[in-house]
Amino acid sequence: MSAPDEERVSMAVDEDRCIGIGQCELLEPDVFRLGDEDAISRVVDGVGLARSRALELVDRCPSGAISIVEPVA
Ligand code: SF4
Repeated sequence: MSAPDEERVSMAVDEDRCIGIGQCELLEPDVFRLGDEDAISRVVDGVGLARSRALELVDRCPSGAISIVEPVA
């Protein structure tokens, strides 16, 4: 769990690195979605995640395709 006042950050997926495992969509289906045609993950929710959760997602991606972009205003 993240603290309620924790900073939120935006996420990004490097489509060239994504290998379509789907871990990100499984963990955060409101933020990541795999393409029906190409099984490449894309960010669908710009609201992002609490920083600690974002770091966990970065860590759980097997191809290193997920990164943190910037704090959400
Ligand atoms: S966890 Fe990483 S490799 Fe797997 S679908 Fe998401 S971005 Fe792609």
